[in-house]
Amino acid sequence: MTKYALITDFDGTITTEDIGNALCLHYGLTTPQKIEHAYNSKADAREWMKSHFGSVKTTKEDFEAIILQKALVRPGFKELCRYAKENNIPFEIASGGLDIYIKPVLRAFDCGPIDIGSVTGVIKPEGIEVSFPNYNGLSMEEFKESRVRHYKELGYKVIFFGDGPGDFNAAKAADMIFATSRLAALLQKNAIPYNHFEDYTAALALLRRENVSLSAA
Ligand SMILES: [Mg+2]
Repeated sequence: MTKYALITDFDGTITTEDIGNALCLHYGLTTPQKIEHAYNSKADAREWMKSHFGSVKTTKEDFEAIILQKALVRPGFKELCRYAKENNIPFEIASGGLDIYIKPVLRAFDCGPIDIGSVTGVIKPEGIEVSFPNYNGLSMEEFKESRVRHYKELGYKVIFFGDGPGDFNAAKAADMIFATSRLAALLQKNAIPYNHFEDYTAALALLRRENVSLSAA
């Protein structure tokens, strides 16, 4: 029986909207044009996060209130978290976003448990302190790819879910891809096959049909 592991991006994948971008727009740190430019550049996502969130002066209460106004979790995610847990299927978030907005969204939508690999944020009076302990010195793109490769090396068939150019290397390394938005366009351009991603229900149905169970792990 096939052993599956699932890796998903957060912003624009678990959530319908990119929460990091929505926050930057809310705090007046960027413009839609600059965001578009960042997607098309080779700039280091870690530097982008540091420079943008480093100057955000906020409180935990305000920050979380804004996040919850913006966030909508895609259908099937909550159910897939439960199914994966019950059936001992590794399921991880590999994100370029901040844990301080990922965790409140998961809590608010009653999702999880799920392991989170992301950027670490601490709200301080002078700004949000951004650090990358989860990345082990890797770039954001390399970190995402490393999580896919980790499970492949352990003999799992890896399903990857993503929406952005930063997900491209991880998607390419995976056995099966669910993609939307800029990632879908990039895969199409490179003639790499993928499943069109609307939400997590198709992947959940696939795992259920294959009857992945405890004995598979
Ligand atoms: Mg994304």
